[in-house]
Amino acid sequence: MADTALMPIPGLVDPVPTPREVTPRADGRVDLIGLPKARITELFAAAGLDAKAAKLRAKQVFHWLYHRGVTEFEAMTDIAKTMRPWLMERFVIGRPEVVLAQHSSDGTRKWLLRTDDGHEFEMVFIPDADRGTLCVSSQVGCTLNCRFCHTGTMRLVRNLTPGEIVGQVMLARDTLGEWPRAGQADLAALGDDLVDEDGGYSSDGRLLTNIVMMGMGEPLYNFDNVRDALKLVMDGDGLALSKRRITLSTSGVVPMMARAGDEIGVNLAVSLHAVSKEVRDEIVPINRKYGLDELLAACAAYPGASNARRITFEYVMLKDKNDSDADARELVRLIKRYRLPAKVNLIPFNPWPGAAYDCSTPERIRRFSEIVFAAGISAPVRTPRGRDIDAACGQLKTAATRMSRAELDKLAEEKLAALG
Ligand code: SAH
Ligand code: SF4
Repeated sequence: MADTALMPIPGLVDPVPTPREVTPRADGRVDLIGLPKARITELFAAAGLDAKAAKLRAKQVFHWLYHRGVTEFEAMTDIAKTMRPWLMERFVIGRPEVVLAQHSSDGTRKWLLRTDDGHEFEMVFIPDADRGTLCVSSQVGCTLNCRFCHTGTMRLVRNLTPGEIVGQVMLARDTLGEWPRAGQADLAALGDDLVDEDGGYSSDGRLLTNIVMMGMGEPLYNFDNVRDALKLVMDGDGLALSKRRITLSTSGVVPMMARAGDEIGVNLAVSLHAVSKEVRDEIVPINRKYGLDELLAACAAYPGASNARRITFEYVMLKDKNDSDADARELVRLIKRYRLPAKVNLIPFNPWPGAAYDCSTPERIRRFSEIVFAAGISAPVRTPRGRDIDAACGQLKTAATRMSRAELDKLAEEKLAALG
């Protein structure tokens, strides 16, 4: 049952549990979403195609799945009519099941999704004037327990598979009607302005232009699956989104950061939230395992970080906890000391029932921002979005259980013990 079981907390908490490629289906067919071309080729060969046919069919199917977004084998017009039933008997083209879809008055959308084995997770789409950002989940729940984060109060955790991760992006494209009608080559022929420097689609006219791994879960505790999913998102014959438009957010899983840079290569965001050991130990407990010095050194060494591609430090504004002028000055000092090409995102804390903190006042947030700005570091305040549908950061609560303060404290202790 290891393949469908949730990870109980505490207990056998393996930070990087064995990845599995698909969630088994009751009907025995294999969901192709999430699989790379090489694996699809193997499956076609194992199902009886000769090596050459398997390779050709996998190439065609891959293009239809990830580049064109079709959800029926019937729509694969360059595959022989007789071949399509053969595919249908053995394979499916999955999408996460939508339990609930909400649309905020400010355009923000939130979806509650369900895996084939019944676990719920969430995804949020935030449209802006010049871009549209999809906030993608990497796990159901989170093994960490940042004290201000509602996802951290979920007791049970399971890694999402590559298919469940890339499936979120595909579902968003379905909903927004954004699959390309023409193939990449046809599109390229229309002119360079439609294709950006990596050969992917440009943002022109598109709603979904950016992806942030900032939904539920800690992406670097599900490294292999997140990497494999993002490879499909970045593949020019897949979803073809430039790595410059993808950001991975981590609470500071230091040993995985270099690999993230080398093997995924997307923009990095780090949930810093505090500048002293004392406060960060309290609000981001993974700090007790990987401290500030280690974390900032790993940021300085992050492959690909430069002034053109800065690291984002997320900083949630908690009243009387991390929001003083001295905190702002210490933040500047740390960024300069480690010579980090960095920007800071100030996030007004989003309260939830039972949370131990309040949000800083708007004046305090403005003052904090000014101090950081005055030192030459960009520090915008993130506007809360989708408040009417609870879509903002840390509010992915539909699937989370409500607990009393005492239960929350006990859970925090258990998760800490599991961190080791
Ligand atoms: N686990 C990863 C990514 C998911 S959390 C990480 O921690 O970076 C995405 C961002 O939302 C993080 O910066 C997180 O600290 C922030 N966040 C969580 N709960 C929040 C809340 N209640 N209010 C504001 N920001 C919150
Ligand atoms: Fe997990 Fe990120 Fe929430 Fe911390 S802030 S509990 S790492 S999801």
